This record gives sequence, structure tokens and C-alpha cells, in this order.
Amino acid sequence: MPLQSTYPPVTIPENVDLWTFLFSHDSPCIREFPPTKEILTCPVTGQSYTWAALRDAALAFGNGLVQNWGWKKGDVLAFYTPNSIDTPIATLGALFAGATISPSNPMYTPHELSFQLSDSKAKALITHLSCLPTAVQAAKECGLPLDRILLLGPVKKPYLQFQHYTTLSTSVSSSEKAAIDPRSDLAFLVYSSGTTGLPKGVPITHFNTLSNLLQASSTEGRQFPWQSSVQLAILPFFHIYGLTCCVLLSILSGWRLVILPRFDMVQVLKAIQTYKVTFMYVPPPVILAFSQHPDVERYDLSSLRVLHSGAAPLGRELIRKVWERVGVPVKQGYGLSETNAVVCCQEIEDWEKKMGSVGRLMPSMEGMVVDAESGREVREGEEGELWLRGPNVFQGYYNRSNEGVFGLDEKGGRWFKTGDVVRVDEEGNFWIVERVKELIKYNGYPVPPAELEGVLLTHPDVLDACVIGIEDKSLATEVPRAYVVVREGVVRTPGKSQELVDHVAKQVASHKKLRGGVHFVDQVPKSPSGKVLRRIMREQAKKDSRQE
Ligand code: AMP
Repeated sequence: MPLQSTYPPVTIPENVDLWTFLFSHDSPCIREFPPTKEILTCPVTGQSYTWAALRDAALAFGNGLVQNWGWKKGDVLAFYTPNSIDTPIATLGALFAGATISPSNPMYTPHELSFQLSDSKAKALITHLSCLPTAVQAAKECGLPLDRILLLGPVKKPYLQFQHYTTLSTSVSSSEKAAIDPRSDLAFLVYSSGTTGLPKGVPITHFNTLSNLLQASSTEGRQFPWQSSVQLAILPFFHIYGLTCCVLLSILSGWRLVILPRFDMVQVLKAIQTYKVTFMYVPPPVILAFSQHPDVERYDLSSLRVLHSGAAPLGRELIRKVWERVGVPVKQGYGLSETNAVVCCQEIEDWEKKMGSVGRLMPSMEGMVVDAESGREVREGEEGELWLRGPNVFQGYYNRSNEGVFGLDEKGGRWFKTGDVVRVDEEGNFWIVERVKELIKYNGYPVPPAELEGVLLTHPDVLDACVIGIEDKSLATEVPRAYVVVREGVVRTPGKSQELVDHVAKQVASHKKLRGGVHFVDQVPKSPSGKVLRRIMREQAKKDSRQE
């Protein structure tokens, strides 16, 4: 029998798109906070927006897109920028215009960005001065006209600031908003490598996003009252975790969102003290920083009620260390781009009793724990691959084969196969045991091994390659490591290994670098059909590390 969420189901309104849900007078979302509530704060520029000012600025930008560029429903607007106070405004304005937003990592190389721009068929690109040279190179590579690049923050001629594209009148009625079918029209097209292969688009409908916002706000949201909650955002807004939990949940819940452009622990500590931050969503390396950074004791962190870790595994030792050092509970959640975003979330009171668990299933979600060999559900409490279904789960990758992505139950019901192995206890708490899919996570950022193997194979000395993730406890993250077969006659020296590390580093974003090094092997284990058996290499790597 599939596992049902232990929470009461949520009612998801039909025929309501995200803009209407968050901002319209007709919204079924009952807003308890006043429109004058400050929602966005930027410690760097000193700018801030109330909920009403955010809505008006977004409305102006959305109308500008329609009127200046003839923006149509489904046209894709790409984002390639570090976090900025303008990101939520441009995002919501674009949704008003009916855009599908395709955010990408601002660390991407021109080639990585150009791939996403072409694959998503982006009509325009929003970027930042710090990313402009790469953005221009990528636009040239994929044929995106340069006058379709807009800048957030400071400007540089001839590129226009995104606000230039606003119709300065905010009195334009919402009736001009794009007509959206929430069940089929896409709000976001994020990129993930899924269980295997290269990055691919994960189409997220308005209905998927709205569902997850309601699921998360009925569980997580009620723990944080709008009057006193201040969230510090360091999660990247291009990733589904940051987009949902930082940007959209704050606007829905009336939390004040203090936005830092990037993670810097001293800036984080300062911001907590200055803005009396009450909670943060973070990846595990930030938990490590709270347990280790030498400056932690120099700041008043007494406002901080809880830290929420997600996106990658987090060990219990770090949770304990943070509690002992800072006196702040660390709870966990779990999710994927394909489930947009949150699947499980711990409640604050469970952090110690269920330390290491990622919490219970979101309302209106169902799960099955399945034995990989037989495809049957395992017995209660046993480990198996997690299959999911629910209103927030996507329907399949964008323009790709979806073979193997979904599984069928005995009644023919369709389930998304997560590629994560879990165990569920008698109270419905989930424990992530391991990952059976290829994906590696460095500091919470996804690294597709197939992509790095492809880059290694472009080196003239490399015959074959297999990339896996290795746990680096000192950094609280996995790091990618390559096992490489070189051509006959090539000498396997530390110098050659470094040359291959450098070869990859030159061609990929920083988080994908082979920080776990390059090891030489005689052959890469393969299945009879030629599929790289990364599982065998992972087991070998574990044995090697025990012997070291
Ligand atoms: P992404 O699509 O980038 O969000 O990556 C989703 C994957 O991140 C999941 O399938 C898991 O493998 C991993 N993940 C997310 N949250 C956790 C967590 N709390 N513990 C362990 N792994 C996690």
C-alpha cells in the first residue's frame, strides 16, 4: 500500500495561476499581512520593497515585456545572475506576462549557458554586469540577439537595465495579464540531470508551483508567523530550493527576505545580527560553517530560531555541533527539481528526537518504497527506492525521452522514480539512505557525471572515463572524482592526473571541477550494453578510502 502523507490534504484551487494566487484581488490565498509589509531587503544597496511595491514593480515590468517586446504566453525568459533584490521582481513580472522562466547558474561557462539558452529556446536573457561577458559570449554562440539582453542592477551601455523595460504606469489593469491554463502552462523550466545523462529541462506548471507553495505553507509556513519572521537568503534563486523556499514562500507568507548576493560567512553573521534573522534555508556546507567558522562567537545570533538544511545529505555530528556551539536547532528537508520542490520537511520540534531524518511527506503527496530488482514495494521499515506522486510532481522532461523516469504500480498508477534510497519509520519520518542515480551534489549544486566524462574524453590521452561522487567530510559535501583509462604509452603520473583535472576545470563551471582528483584504472566497469557501472566504482572508492 502506498504511503500517504500524515498531514491533512491541501485544497489546490483550479484555474488560478501564480500571479493571481500571489497578487490578485481574486486570489484564493487569504493574505493576513498588510500590503505595506516589507518583504524584500538588500543589505548591500540598502533597497527594500513592501509587498505592494514589489507587486507594482513586477506589474510594470510584466507590462513592459508585453508592450515593448510583444511578449507571448510561453515565451522563455532566461536568467543568468547572482541573487539580487531585482530577481523576484523580474521573475514575477515575467509571470504576469505569461513567460516561462528558465534560470541558470551564474557560474556557468559560455558553452553551458548557450546550451540552456538553445535548449529552452529562450527569447531574451536577464543577467548582471558581473556575468555580462559570459552572457554575451553565450548569446553569440547560440544566436540570441544582443539587444535581447537586459541587466539587473548597474548598467553598461548599450545593454539596458531591466527596469527600462517597464511601462512606467502601474495603473495598467490586471485584466491584461496573460491568460494561463495552470495545469498545462509552464511557470519555470529549470535544468537537472535527473537520474542519468546530461542536464535536461524540468517543466514546472503554475499548478505544480502553486501546489507546493500550499503544501509547504500549510506545514512549514505555520511555524513562522509573518509578524516576527525574517529569512536570510543565500540559496541561489536559480535552484528550485531557493526559488520556492526563499522567494515564493516569503512573498506568500509575508516573511521579510534579506537577500545576500552570495554566501560569505562573515556577511551572513553580520546580517543575522543586524536584521535579527529568525531562520535560514541552507545547504549542508553552511551548517559546517556555523560549526567551524572562527567568527561565529563575535556576533549576536540570539534571534536565530532554526536552520533548515536541504539539497544534499547532512550528518548528525554537524547538527549536534551547531546545537552545542550556537544553540540553534538544525532541521532537514528533502526535495528535487522534478518535485518542485519540497517533498519532506521536518518540524522544528522533531529536530532532536528524529535527528538525521528529512521529516514527513508533504500534504497531498504519496510515496512508495520499492525494491529495485523486483519493482515491488518493500516491507514497512525496509530500504528501497522512493517513488512519488502528487500535485507538485512534474510530468516528464522537456523534449526528451522519458523512458525509465516513471514506474507503474500494480494498478497501473504512474509514479516518479527519484533515484534516492530511503527508509520510512513507523511515524512516517523519511531517512535518506543513499543515491542510486548518477547525480553528484557539490555544496548542494548538481553535477552530472556524464557531462564531465564527455569533457574528459575530449582529451587526446583519454580512452575511457567514469566520474563518481566521493564524500569529503571536511567540507560537508561530495566532490566529483574521475577514474580514467589512458592510451597505451601515456605515463600515469601525478602530473598527468593534474593535467586532466585542469583540462576539465577550463571547460566547466567551478562547482563541477574534479575536486576529488583523477585516478587511473585499467578499465571502467560496464554493463553488457555498454552502460558505465558507476555503482561498482563507488563501492571500490569506499573500499580504497577505508584502506587509506
Ligand atoms: P535537485 O534536483 O538539484 O534539487 O537534486 C535533488 C537531489 O538532491 C535528490 O534526488 C537527492 O539525491 C538530493 N537531496 C536533496 N535533499 C536532500 C537531503 N536532505 N538529504 C540527502 N539528499 C538530498
